[in-house]
Amino acid sequence: MTVVTTRLDRLDAYQQHFTSTILETRERKGVQQVRLEASAFYPTAGGQACDTGWLDGANVTAVSEDDDGNLWHAVDSRLETGEEVMGQIDWMRRLEHMQQHTGEHILGQAFYRLERHVVAVSMEHAVCTLDLSGEVSWELAMRAELDANEAIWAAHPISTYELSDNQLETVPLRRAPKVSGLVRVVQIGTGLRDAFDYSACGGTHLHNSAEVGMLKIFKLERVRGTDTRVFFNCGSRLLGDYRFKHDFVAALGLRFSTALETVPIRTNAMLEELERSKREVAHLRGALALEISKSLTSPLSVLQLEDASLLPDLAKIVISRDGQIAILGAMDGGKAILTVACGKDVSIKAGELLKIGLAHIDGRGGGKPELAQGSGSRVEGLTAALEAMRAAASS
Ligand SMILES: [Zn+2]
Repeated sequence: MTVVTTRLDRLDAYQQHFTSTILETRERKGVQQVRLEASAFYPTAGGQACDTGWLDGANVTAVSEDDDGNLWHAVDSRLETGEEVMGQIDWMRRLEHMQQHTGEHILGQAFYRLERHVVAVSMEHAVCTLDLSGEVSWELAMRAELDANEAIWAAHPISTYELSDNQLETVPLRRAPKVSGLVRVVQIGTGLRDAFDYSACGGTHLHNSAEVGMLKIFKLERVRGTDTRVFFNCGSRLLGDYRFKHDFVAALGLRFSTALETVPIRTNAMLEELERSKREVAHLRGALALEISKSLTSPLSVLQLEDASLLPDLAKIVISRDGQIAILGAMDGGKAILTVACGKDVSIKAGELLKIGLAHIDGRGGGKPELAQGSGSRVEGLTAALEAMRAAASS
């Protein structure tokens, strides 16, 4: 019978180093995997990402558990069956995972007390998620967040023990266990039946809730119709998040030369000012286009403008006039722009004229019989395009 990997992480989640023997090696998708007699590595399971670390000189890049309960360690250099190896897990990664995982238990209990029950968890990505049955308002989430943080700061001791099916009835588990037989219970707080939380879980957890440090909910999202996904992080990840956001807000304050708390007011004031300016520019552009249009007196006008933003306003004026055609061009951001406007009672179609011009600027475009627009990257062809269009319109 195969010897199943002894799970040192379940005996002591704080064990960082160990010695063990390689019982078997195999290759999966070109990567060598080794099975050890005993291991302190945690595999990807129960919504928690695996540990990484080292086996002698080899990097352990992933750890998975097979159906028999054996752990397979993916390594980046060759190891042989029978070898005794020194194992070391990446402790900072593990500690960060334990902070998220223990925080997840605490947040799950905080929501449970507000009558929202956990249906799924995921801690494999940078931001952890907890799926709850039913709707959750932001106010309710903030209450659960505060309750969870108070439980963290209460420094509850955390213990782990195994109970058989019939003993399980003595502890108020939040969720029914997914396994039968001996069930591993993680208890946060002291007391036989009145601790803060009891969960059936095979993961790695901290010794004390205070080590979670802090928990923050970032956002809520509706999933599967009526369930709610809660995005959160704990512990050291929040320090990284706080540093990023602090630097970001401080840079904004500096840019606006204002105290941090008035940045939102200044931002709103600037956005309003921008809207006012946009309206003013649109008004002035319309007035300028009207002024230019006064010079378009002949039935066919060909014009190259300095400002491409005037083309739409000018074209709009021309199409409202009787019997006039305007062929307009401009440069804009390294591109040649062409617009053809045909007024009332003009037999020429704007799109047909535009097509002639586009061939000179390697352009694309289209439009309606009275108005067509296009642009191309061959800016040096703009003058030739306007001339070719003039010739076509005059013939
Ligand atoms: Zn757990």
